[in-house]
Formats: sequence, structure tokens, C-alpha cells
Amino acid sequence: PSGDILLQTTGLELAYGAFKAVDGVDLTVRQGTIHTIIGPNGAGKTTTFHCLTGERRPTAGRVRFAGQDITNRPPEARVGLGMSRSFQITSLFQTLSVRENLRLAAQGRDGARALAFWRPVTSRPDHLKVADEIIDRLQLGGRAHLPAGELSHGQQRVLEVGMALAARPKLLLLDEPTSGMGIDDIPVMTRLIGELGHDYTVMLIEHNMSIVMSISDVITVMHQGRVLVEGPPDLVRNDDRVRSAYLGEA
Ligand code: ATP
Repeated sequence: PSGDILLQTTGLELAYGAFKAVDGVDLTVRQGTIHTIIGPNGAGKTTTFHCLTGERRPTAGRVRFAGQDITNRPPEARVGLGMSRSFQITSLFQTLSVRENLRLAAQGRDGARALAFWRPVTSRPDHLKVADEIIDRLQLGGRAHLPAGELSHGQQRVLEVGMALAARPKLLLLDEPTSGMGIDDIPVMTRLIGELGHDYTVMLIEHNMSIVMSISDVITVMHQGRVLVEGPPDLVRNDDRVRSAYLGEA
């Protein structure tokens, strides 16, 4: 992958007391790639995401995004700069329709932009139009007017991704988008992420190796808070250090 650098961390660290959940992580994410973080349980993947989105303040290191140092910027400002993380099902408005959920997510983004650039929201873009574009993209057309709570689990997870898209991000962060999904829904989500990779830069945390290997451009393997190996799927698949990190967990 040879796109411009969209996100970069240097020496990223998050310590809880003496324990470093993230321990000196250097990540470079290039525009237009699907960049996946894998690693055994407790490797520090989710904590790394928290540091990127601003939910946690790193105890050391820097985060640069879209040409700016965002290490100390609040989460809303990062959304406004174009970083969007998938929400959890628990944050969908269960009684509101799919379309209303997406409209609200699109609206929330303008508030975030105002904050990021220190200026008030001046125009009123058509948030319903954004919602409808996403509904098409997710192929939820037949269900746009159903309450989100009436969707199947798999469809709700797809809608979560849609909520993140409503922010019209440069970088989309997806933390285990297939977790808890039935075997029938997994290919739908996999195809969706693969397609999103054409238009967005995607950072993914995923445990399902067949998904990881089939859609990632770059894989970063984390182990005990550090980067163990990084490279394209073929390189990672055949790396002995990766194999033993996973086996060591058993
Ligand atoms: P999984 O695949 O199981 O989700 P992960 O790679 O996402 O794992 P993290 O959730 O980032 O791992 O956790 C990394 C380590 O940090 C774990 O050992 C975890 O117990 C620890 N940890 C996470 N949050 C806290 C906290 N608030 N206080 C102390 N330790 C924490």
C-alpha cells in the first residue's frame, strides 16, 4: 500500500499503574487501506482504539491524524476531523426507525465538526439524504422504516456500521464487527467491509481469521501491548512468531 499517511502513532503507551496495556506502539495507516489489528485476548487492541478515538488519553506517545497532532483532542473533535468508530448496538435507538437512527447520526456529525474547527454550524445539510444513501449502501432499503430493535442481530450490527458512516468519515474504526453474528450474517458483513474499503480507510479489530486474511491490506499483530509483526496477509499468515503468540495463549 502506497497511499498518503492518514493516521500515525509514535510510541503510543497506555499504562494502568505499572501495567502497560499498550506499550510503545508505532502504527502507520495509509489512505485507502483496510488495516486490521489482530492478536490474542488482552493484547491491547481495543485499548489502542480507545487511544485513537480519544476515549482514553495515552500515558505517552503521539497520535497524528489527517496532518494534525490529535493526541490531546477530545473524541468529538476527532469525529469532526473525520474519524468515526462504530457504535454498539446498545447505542442504537431501538424504538426509532433505521432511517431516523441514521439521520440522528448524520446530524451529530455537524456538531462534532463545529467543535473540531472551532466554528458554529452554519449550513443545514440534508441529513435525511445522507441517511438514505447509507440505507442503499447497506441494502437495508426494505427495512428503513422498521424500528431498529426489530432488525435481526446481524442487521443491527450492519446498522452500527451505518451509524459510523453517517459521520462521513475519512477513517472508519470497526471493533469486532462480526462478534456475536450468526454464520449466515458473517459473509454479509465481510462483503460490506470489503466494499467500504474502496471508499474509506478502515481500521478493523477482528478475531475471525478467514475474514482478516480475505479483506485486509495490512495486518498488525499485537501481543502483550506491543507490535509483534506487521505486513500483508501472506506474510503474517506464515510467521512463526504469530503462531506461537496465539498458541501461548491456550
Ligand atoms: P480482546 O481481544 O480480549 O478484546 P484486546 O487486545 O482488545 O483483547 P484490551 O481490551 O485492549 O485487549 O486489554 C489489554 C489489557 O489491558 C488487558 O490485559 C486488560 O485486562 C487490560 N485493561 C483494559 N482496561 C483496563 C483498565 N481499565 N484497568 C486495568 N487494566 C485494563
